[in-house]
Amino acid sequence: MVELEGTVPIFAVRRENGTVPLSVHNRRLTDMKHRRTILFAAVAAAGLAAIAWAVFAKPGGNGAAAAAGPKLTLENIPFNGQRAYGYLKQLCEIGPRPSGSPGMAKQQKLLTEHFKQHGGQVELQRFRVRDPRDGQWVPMANVIVRWRPEAKDRILLCAHYDTLPFPMLDPEDPLGRFVGANDNASGVALLMELAHDFNKLDLKYGVDFVMLDGEEYIFRRGDRMFIGSEWFARQYAKQQLKYRYRWGVLLDMIGATDLRLPQERNSIWWRDTRPLVAQIWATAARLGVREFLHKKGDEIDDDHVILHAVGRIPCIDVIQPMSEYPPWHTRGDTPDKCSPLSLAKVGWVIREWLKTVK
Ligand SMILES: [Zn+2]
Repeated sequence: MVELEGTVPIFAVRRENGTVPLSVHNRRLTDMKHRRTILFAAVAAAGLAAIAWAVFAKPGGNGAAAAAGPKLTLENIPFNGQRAYGYLKQLCEIGPRPSGSPGMAKQQKLLTEHFKQHGGQVELQRFRVRDPRDGQWVPMANVIVRWRPEAKDRILLCAHYDTLPFPMLDPEDPLGRFVGANDNASGVALLMELAHDFNKLDLKYGVDFVMLDGEEYIFRRGDRMFIGSEWFARQYAKQQLKYRYRWGVLLDMIGATDLRLPQERNSIWWRDTRPLVAQIWATAARLGVREFLHKKGDEIDDDHVILHAVGRIPCIDVIQPMSEYPPWHTRGDTPDKCSPLSLAKVGWVIREWLKTVK
């Protein structure tokens, strides 16, 4: 796209017959892992990290003092984690939901009905791309749910809802069945639960829930990722004057039973998103949700990088690092690895943040 040339130098730009004005960013999949993990090699940095870990993560350490208080349970968290978990299971029961599949079509129907029923304005933002295997067209769609659509100042809450076509990191059956419970039925389930009584919240901003397609329609090294977020960001960039996203939050892999959410590194590196990380992690600390760790996590390539680069949206990633979720991209990413309590904790933090957002 002409208007982006020279401004987003990390992407090569290509047009195909004028029908798919998407740029191509063939990120390398190192060892089939699409999200980069950067290890700080410097001894000093490792030492600092160790100190931070000791201070913030150890029960009884100094950092735990702020989060002291009654242990959080499903009963004392005012976000319905049990129902959210029910949604997670319902999504996984559809089966595999990769872009363009019958499972994806079922999921789109389910989500459309669900969000309409709860008072959201639903739009399927359709587009199509070439299958990297045979060049056939694959239909895709981002599901956009608008709350207070007339508001010009808006918040973006997003989560990818396509599943990896095959569990490519499964040691036994990399062509087996993949249902993506934590990656990323968890993020979608959280949005489904958040929709309950959402219109009753008296929020300063309009809010868009966006379920992104084509995050990982990949089959081998070099296949293009983040297609839905790129499409979404381009459409947004074209009509910036009509409304503006003040903040964006991407929810990805937030439901694991053993939940750990350090601060994703891009999100704290970018100047425009750093205050948002501070707001959300401060909200978690205030509520006593200790899983939002006050320490730097991995640098992760995810939809937020595209939304930030192409759409200039100050968007952070709330994500459990893949390195800390062993079933990642294997057949084992199933609902039993996730928990109602984790969904409740993250959902509560996000809703409380929305109520106080600046
Ligand atoms: Zn994934």
